[in-house]
Amino acid sequence: MAARIQTIRGFRDILPEEAHKWWYVESTAREILGLFGFKEVRLPILEQTALFARSIGETTDIVEKEMYSFVDKGGDSLSLRPEATAGMVRMFIQHSLYHQPLTAKLFTIGPMFRRERPQKGRYRQFYQIDVEMFGFAHALADAELIHMLDTLLKRLKIPVYELHLNSLGCRKCREPFKEALKTFLKDKHEQLCPDCRRRRTLNPLRVFDCKKEQCKAVLKDAPLITDYLCEECKAHFLQLKGYLEELKISYVLNPYLVRGLDYYTRTIFEVIIPGIGAQSAVAGGGRYDNLVEMLGGRPTPATGFAIGMDRLLPCVPEPEEKQRPLFLALLGEEAVKVGLRWAKVLRANGIWTEIDYRLGSLKSQLNRANHLKALLALIIGEDEIKKDRAILRNMDTKEQIEVPLNPEEGLAIVKQQLGRK
Ligand code: AMP
Repeated sequence: MAARIQTIRGFRDILPEEAHKWWYVESTAREILGLFGFKEVRLPILEQTALFARSIGETTDIVEKEMYSFVDKGGDSLSLRPEATAGMVRMFIQHSLYHQPLTAKLFTIGPMFRRERPQKGRYRQFYQIDVEMFGFAHALADAELIHMLDTLLKRLKIPVYELHLNSLGCRKCREPFKEALKTFLKDKHEQLCPDCRRRRTLNPLRVFDCKKEQCKAVLKDAPLITDYLCEECKAHFLQLKGYLEELKISYVLNPYLVRGLDYYTRTIFEVIIPGIGAQSAVAGGGRYDNLVEMLGGRPTPATGFAIGMDRLLPCVPEPEEKQRPLFLALLGEEAVKVGLRWAKVLRANGIWTEIDYRLGSLKSQLNRANHLKALLALIIGEDEIKKDRAILRNMDTKEQIEVPLNPEEGLAIVKQQLGRK
């Protein structure tokens, strides 16, 4: 036998049973995002490496260690997108979407790629619902985003989650904070891991991303960004907290939250689901008021978040009763032809219709109907054709009634039995 080829490490297949839940989460998200006026876009998954290096930051874990980058045959350095914000900003600038009201609030759903160590809740291809809002500096925009995320999580019946909130300030307040942090970390050099020793001088904020206990211990006494916020940033943060209180959205102030990307300013947040393991962050985001300009666009404030679908899905209760199919049990060639006409009419009326293409005995066809959890079976055999009546069997109660053989005439009864108008 030929050697079997399997998926690569950190990549996986989503099989039909699970895919149904993905569809449910995605369609619920589309519905809720629509209520807040967000429009869907689709972006390439491959972009120039420079886009990510310049936005996420050269010294972040994502860019330093986790990107799938390669030089293509034309000599360009390309990368599979590790997140969606950079691509959204590129698109916003490339198409000059500055003054179009409908394009200021955007979302996209799709796969992202990071070469992290795979474990429960962490994959190398994972999926995000990514939401971005361009052009609004006011804290109200952040409040709306968080409100939307909260509405979606509630609609999906996620029983328990925590919203962690922090402000990273602006350029003005970040610099003195960075200096203070550098000074603090200087004496702790020996206690830091090799990565953080390097980051200490290059990009000290990134030390907060470190998962190693030794570095976490050092940071316990570190200066906190919230003590360095300028008056405007303080007021912005206060306003946001006020709006969240108005919306009765509870939050946890977490001054250690920095998120692993360089582009954030002011508001940042993360949604944690306690008890689902080490990878408990199911969504994260924040404001990035300088990024559009950093990538060559006009100064445009922006804010956004991403939901990690792979982590969220196991926490979503199974969606309620799916539609159950109608099964056509067909015996003999004439019946097959009548059955095809029925199938056409039923499907045109939005009724999920199944046929067992093996066309075995009535018993085996009804077994198949049970297997598919059909609610009704429409049985057509030689007798039924002679009588010009088909048999409609309720698979739960086993009750049978007769319906006209002609689908145009019989449809109303079938719909009635399915509880449809
Ligand atoms: P980030 O872009 O790192 O802020 O991630 C946003 C969300 O995407 C996280 O809160 C996770 O839920 C999800 N996520 C990030 N990396 C992974 C991964 N490797 N596997 C699965 N989900 C991920």
